[in-house]
Amino acid sequence: MAVVETRKLTKVFKRGNVGAVVNVDLQSREGEFLVLLGPSGSGKTTLLRMIAGLEEPTSGEILIGGKLVNDLTPRERGIAMVFQSYALYPHLSVFKNIVFPLKAQGMPKERRQKQAEWAASLLGIQHLFDRKPRELSGGERQRVALARAIVREPSLFLLDEPLSNLDAKLRASAREELEQFQKRIGTTAIYVTHDQVEAMAMGDRVVVMSQGAVRQIGTPADVYDEPADTFVATFLGSPPMNILPGPDVIVGFRPEHFLPPGVAERMGEHISFGFQISHGEYLGAERVLYGTIAGGAFDGRKAVSRIPATHAVSLPDGSLQTFAVALGDVKFFDPGTEKRTSPRSIPA
Ligand code: ATP
Repeated sequence: MAVVETRKLTKVFKRGNVGAVVNVDLQSREGEFLVLLGPSGSGKTTLLRMIAGLEEPTSGEILIGGKLVNDLTPRERGIAMVFQSYALYPHLSVFKNIVFPLKAQGMPKERRQKQAEWAASLLGIQHLFDRKPRELSGGERQRVALARAIVREPSLFLLDEPLSNLDAKLRASAREELEQFQKRIGTTAIYVTHDQVEAMAMGDRVVVMSQGAVRQIGTPADVYDEPADTFVATFLGSPPMNILPGPDVIVGFRPEHFLPPGVAERMGEHISFGFQISHGEYLGAERVLYGTIAGGAFDGRKAVSRIPATHAVSLPDGSLQTFAVALGDVKFFDPGTEKRTSPRSIPA
């Protein structure tokens, strides 16, 4: 149930280059499902590999369970890692794949059998023991890889996009399964993904990364509702948060908070904008409207609104409407640093 801590952890692959991971301070909590989220190349895998002991840090410290592990081998760190490609041994049966790490560490046969049965029963794959990996579905292979990772009862679980080989439907069920499984065994997990839906759904907390640095650490609600800067605000959410650069302040609000006439009246304190709708998309459960702000300090800035299908109001392409955002849903960012700042008066 180890707690992982990194202190000023940095990796520079080539001297003179900017770091792949830069000064990362991170502290997981016991039994937590911690997700590393960021675009491609933001340093997630490098960070995970350093924690695992597969990549040597350029500087900084890694602690597991309060103990400095920089000089320990991956095996000595008591970690199990599951990669994007499960790398099962194709010529070995499921059972032999699962007991492989135990055999390698010299565990007696009888105990190996017991451990394999325990791991397999947790994942519901005992009936697959005699099959070869090629005779399994993608989801089953993933479960075998997980079983192989947990047989050693690791104190820490590191997962690098383990679901990315699955199709969309299987992925959703595998996600839920993996999440419940982690809660059941109670082992701290660090999970890498670039998929924000996965991060929001699975993470107890989410670490948002960009260019090797941590932009924000928080619960899914924290990072979505209270983004620390414009990067986090626009990386999370689809469509992303509207960002309107004004003369002294950047104003941001989510498309689902940018609401049409008839709703604003019930909102309490709010701010109104002219909204020139260019076109709308009908998505079944909701409508997404694209357009520009009309008039005032943000005239001509692009904006997007997202309206539940249950709100049946006519908003034709090309029309000029008055939309509104509740004051509490408006976020403010500093134009210099792009970091969150305290509420200001909104330029008229
Ligand atoms: P992805 O989601 O695409 O896997 P990531 O966030 O996991 O991306 P990393 O794989 O950690 O990102 O890569 C971070 C940066 O370090 C990238 O710019 C990458 O090109 C670079 N990098 C990674 N591994 C090496 C390496 N072995 N040698 C040189 N540069 C590397």
